[in-house]
Amino acid sequence: MASFTLQGIPISRGITIGRAHLLRPAALDVQHYLIAQEQVEAEVQRLQAAIAQVHKELQTIWSDLPADAPTEIGAFLDVHALILSDPMICEEPLDIIRTRHYNAEWALVTQIDALSAQFNEIEDDYLRERKADIQQVADRVLKVLTGTAHSLPRSTGVDERNANMIVVARDISPADMMQFRNVAFTGFVTDEGGQNSHTAIVSRSLGIPAVVGMGNATRLIEQDDWLIVDSDAGVVIVAPSALVIGQFRDRQAVLLKVRKKLARLKKTQAVTLDGVEISLLANIELPQDAVAALAAGANGVGLFRSEFLFMGRTGQEHQLPTEDEQFIAYRDAVLAMKGRPVTIRTLDVGADKPMEAGEHNILNPALGLRAIRYCLKEPQIFLPQLRAILRASAFGTVHMLIPMIAHAFEIDQSLAMIAQAKAELAAENKNFDQKILVGAMIEVPAAALSLPLFVKKLDFLSVGTNDLIQYTLAIDRADHEVAHLYNDTHPAILQLLQMTVNAAEKAGIPVAICGGMAGDVRLTRLLIGMGFRELSMPPALLPEVKQEILNTRIDSLQPYIKKILRSYEPAMIQETLAQLAGAGSESGAGLH
Ligand code: PEP
Ligand code: MG
Repeated sequence: MASFTLQGIPISRGITIGRAHLLRPAALDVQHYLIAQEQVEAEVQRLQAAIAQVHKELQTIWSDLPADAPTEIGAFLDVHALILSDPMICEEPLDIIRTRHYNAEWALVTQIDALSAQFNEIEDDYLRERKADIQQVADRVLKVLTGTAHSLPRSTGVDERNANMIVVARDISPADMMQFRNVAFTGFVTDEGGQNSHTAIVSRSLGIPAVVGMGNATRLIEQDDWLIVDSDAGVVIVAPSALVIGQFRDRQAVLLKVRKKLARLKKTQAVTLDGVEISLLANIELPQDAVAALAAGANGVGLFRSEFLFMGRTGQEHQLPTEDEQFIAYRDAVLAMKGRPVTIRTLDVGADKPMEAGEHNILNPALGLRAIRYCLKEPQIFLPQLRAILRASAFGTVHMLIPMIAHAFEIDQSLAMIAQAKAELAAENKNFDQKILVGAMIEVPAAALSLPLFVKKLDFLSVGTNDLIQYTLAIDRADHEVAHLYNDTHPAILQLLQMTVNAAEKAGIPVAICGGMAGDVRLTRLLIGMGFRELSMPPALLPEVKQEILNTRIDSLQPYIKKILRSYEPAMIQETLAQLAGAGSESGAGLH
């Protein structure tokens, strides 16, 4: 096969080389995970039980058929029962579970995909159409399986057999992404998605190479093709020659060396050459990510995206995590951070973060019932979360962060709910930090333009640049068609950032950045030059940003910052940013 190259949007760092593992769209609705050896037989039985149940269902439908039902219906039911009894359906997937350790749903989908490919080759139209019957039967079995999936624990082990698999999909929902945490895939390539879509964020936090927004990767890449994913350049090389693979392996080795060198900065504080201390914090999605945060030398957690505890829970006993479950997760994160502050953001679902795959608002989800709007409408979900966060605050330093606020009444109502949660806990003699700090995200332009309101009512601010850019520039952050317009140095964004840092400074309250800009080393000097002193990012990006800070003299940045903010001209902004990259550094504490 001839080699070819595809260009997409780079969303994380590094290079991976491996074989393509294609996910067809329907398969995205089912979970994919590997099961432990000792659970293989239980998984086999789960699939057998589901098949038996579908047999029963078909029989019941047969016997309940009204006397005047068209005869074709009975014939179809017969065909479906026959398909279900065919070893290709009722035995092959069992073998897949036993040999590849796929979960039942994944094994079934894999087999159906293989059969569908064979059907596509058939000349006879009638027979080719039977593919649809097979898929319908499989869907029936999948439905039964999904309803019972909670009975099986998920493997957390890394399986070497899959160590070089690269997932190629049309899109991967954040919830699906969370499933992949348990499986040893080394890269992701998707047709859709933008630089700061939530899928991108999770893959970044997994610290593995990924390229999104490729347009038609799923059409051009075939199952098991060899791929090189260069996520620094946003490039995927399909079917590379041995020579090219060799070159990329060399580059991989160099990158690894650089990473090891940077890891030595773990215990060094991020202080500029002129003595200004910058707090570098970690963004996490689950409590167990605190390990990576500490390993990267983070000063705390600047953003715990709590919504990931709420996603992909179909089939679990409780569709939503209970107050106790949440409390344990928050407390674990707080304890893991060993005294460092943990900022827990309240539930930010909606838009590109539906709780379940396929669940979407009808029109413009990004402008719909998302984040605090959703929480204020669903107090029975919000209040238990506030109580859980407050209870965790008894175990360390916890800050509470409210997303997507745009209106004064949203702040007032949130604060009233927090006061209610506090009163309830006090009445129940439960411990919590009475003086817990409450902040809001500045991620809607309306918030950045009404800062006096925010600084008056809140203890701190945190700028969510991912959404601030989305809402200011009117660009759906998950839509690859407009990804080229997603510009973090647009003059409007820079002005809003400067306004925010100035207002917070004047009011004497801290302001952090926790969106993607904070982890982009090309912008570090710009942001600290503007006055930001807290940057929160995926742990994997932290060492590089620290290195940049150690090599920077803040004093010398000011003329460039002023020029950038005054010019409004994109070309001039880019030129000055390039000068900024070369300015203000000195040989010093950083590594060279
Ligand atoms: C942001 O919008 O920049 C942010 C940090 O929040 P999220 O990416 O989770 O929307
Ligand atoms: Mg946001």
